[in-house]
Amino acid sequence: MITATSPTRHPIPLSSWQRDFAEAVTDPAELLALLGLGDEWLAPARAAAKVFPLRVPRSFVARMRHGDANDPLLRQVLPLAEELDEVTGFVTDPNRESGFRLAPGLLRKYSSRALLIATEACALHCRYCFRREFPYDEQQGETGRWKEAVAAIAADRSITELILSGGDPLSVSNARLRALSSDLENVTHLESLRLHTRNAVVLPSRIDQGFIEWLRALRWRVTIVLHVNHPNEIAADAIDALERLRGTGALLLNQSTLLRGVNDDAQTLSELSRRLHRHGVLPYYLHLLDRVRGSAHFEVTDSTGIALIQTMAQQLPGYLVPKLVREVAGAEAKTVIAAGLSSQIA
Ligand SMILES: *Cc1c(COP(=O)(O)O)cnc(C)c1O
Ligand code: SF4
Repeated sequence: MITATSPTRHPIPLSSWQRDFAEAVTDPAELLALLGLGDEWLAPARAAAKVFPLRVPRSFVARMRHGDANDPLLRQVLPLAEELDEVTGFVTDPNRESGFRLAPGLLRKYSSRALLIATEACALHCRYCFRREFPYDEQQGETGRWKEAVAAIAADRSITELILSGGDPLSVSNARLRALSSDLENVTHLESLRLHTRNAVVLPSRIDQGFIEWLRALRWRVTIVLHVNHPNEIAADAIDALERLRGTGALLLNQSTLLRGVNDDAQTLSELSRRLHRHGVLPYYLHLLDRVRGSAHFEVTDSTGIALIQTMAQQLPGYLVPKLVREVAGAEAKTVIAAGLSSQIA
């Protein structure tokens, strides 16, 4: 039950989110103590955190079950010994993104849309992140460098949608978002703006009044693609944030990653879809894991993924079944592996 845990509610004076962001748990010992877990997890957590640091906002910790090392939210953030295993096929840049750079921080993989890595920072570090060892420092989206990205978008009339991604674009202050969008206002061929964000749900205080006002003032169609993997993430404080976003009229979608031990069963995924729908969000993509080094223990096979989608299709209205997709290097779009029941026609 989401109401069984009682996450902290923030009365939201302006920029309180920045304090919440800064006060995230980063010490494995503190995380284990908060959850009443034993010391046997500590040494491996410290070792794996050296490669990719632990980071989890307190509001997200409050949604975890006390004393349960298998909690599906904890598994997404706790560094484990398995991350240090070398597994064939799991590499540091699985999507070979570095080949698609149009300008510093700007990726152009697919026609009509470009993706801006607005910042490298995230409120929460997902252990399976395909950018966990990405050389972000080379492409930090400092304001000065956005100018180059904006110029590249302005020079290419085929780009009609800009995706603000990261990291998480909501790690950036409202003032800097305003500066970016006012530069983009001059790009007349840009029709839509999209935000890919996990912060909106894992750090709900981020959806403050200034951010809502920024969204409302934008001249584009706005789509917000959230990143929620498990129904327990949609706690009371996250619901408040979703309702505030909904009030702006933005289209709200969700993408999840299919993760072993987190959401690899049909009941959990169906409950996630239903709970998202209850708060105005439709499922978009269910991603098969990108094979990034350190994430092999999260992998779910294609055939399991397909079976899960088929079970969901039997249980839910079609609009609550996400498309099971994978990122294929060189492909012109996400590759759809399953989207409902398979055809029986040979
Ligand atoms: C996933 C992705 C997109 C968006 O793809 P959609 O199918 O439109 O959601 C755009 N650019 C890059 C680099 C991506 O990885
Ligand atoms: S929110 Fe996205 S970019 Fe940030 S750590 Fe998680 S998966 Fe990676």
